[in-house]
Amino acid sequence: MSSRPIDLRSDTVTLPSPAMRKAMAEAEVGDDVFGEDPTVNALQEEVAGLLGMEAALFVSSGTQANQIALRGHTRHGDEVVAHPMAHIVRAEGGGGGALAGIQFRPVGEDDGTMDAAKIEEVWQSGENPHFAPTRLICIENTHNFAGGTLWPPARLAAVVDLARRKHLALHVDGARLWNAAVAQDVKPAQLAAGADSVAVCFSKGLGAPVGSAIAGSKAFVARCLRFRKMYGGGMRQAGILAAAARYALEHNLARMAEDHANAARFAAGLRQSKHIQLPYGAPQTNMVFFGCTHPQVSLSQLVAALKAQGVLVGQTYSTLARAVTHLDVSRADIDRAVAAVLGILKA
Ligand SMILES: *Cc1c(COP(=O)(O)O)cnc(C)c1O
Repeated sequence: MSSRPIDLRSDTVTLPSPAMRKAMAEAEVGDDVFGEDPTVNALQEEVAGLLGMEAALFVSSGTQANQIALRGHTRHGDEVVAHPMAHIVRAEGGGGGALAGIQFRPVGEDDGTMDAAKIEEVWQSGENPHFAPTRLICIENTHNFAGGTLWPPARLAAVVDLARRKHLALHVDGARLWNAAVAQDVKPAQLAAGADSVAVCFSKGLGAPVGSAIAGSKAFVARCLRFRKMYGGGMRQAGILAAAARYALEHNLARMAEDHANAARFAAGLRQSKHIQLPYGAPQTNMVFFGCTHPQVSLSQLVAALKAQGVLVGQTYSTLARAVTHLDVSRADIDRAVAAVLGILKA
């Protein structure tokens, strides 16, 4: 066994390659708070183009992008409809309430999508003083905690249509929108069509060390600029980071298909054991959630035994572990990881 662990805990663990580091080292930079960093400006234009939006803003993290979007679309006391397991609801330190002063109204299916008719049922115009006015719908594509799942086009179109009819803003948390586009073989802009804002990450499957972006109309992004400053996200010679993101978009986007094939291979491998349970079925993108029903080996024991063999997976819930494929995991690594699981459980 090699000494380098096979790290399937998250696609955030990817390390910048020598070529990416070279692009960073050579980046032309300036003071981005003055709008004078040419590499940041180039990235922002590129991302806006890829997402079919007028403008984009480079920000420090996916959480910052989402929080700026919440603040930018709403007023204190508004209601925001989102999936109860959405990252923006449960994994951002309570930022929606603390920073934007909004309250979430959970609506969602087990597959991470939302049913437009159910959103319409909870929608409030704001005329009745008992109820917080619904201002914004947030969707997550791919949906992380539902298994890296994709929004089927018809379901997405129904939510876009509802948002239009009810004059609601629509925000797409597309931390892994790149994976969705590759998996569905569509342009990222197609998955953002009809949305008022989109958040994307460069630091997950794309393999850049730091950075996200928020895209939308020129007016919305101008508003976001103020909240980015307010939230401490104005960075100076950020072109060093933007260069990594530009490199990642050029070199690491199309190859995500390999990550999806590796996730499928991992899931198929695990299925050889009758003690492994895949509650979400076959993976749709780069994540495999699995449970362990072995009479003598608990899930925590399985995760610990894998770690001892240099295979790292995350235990997301008490009964579910998560393995995420990414550019630093090869097909051979997947085969080793599968063999490790089968060995511990004796298939
Ligand atoms: C990771 C993630 C984020 C936040 O990204 P950070 O850069 O870690 O703040 C937002 N949404 C989803 C769905 C994510 O998976």
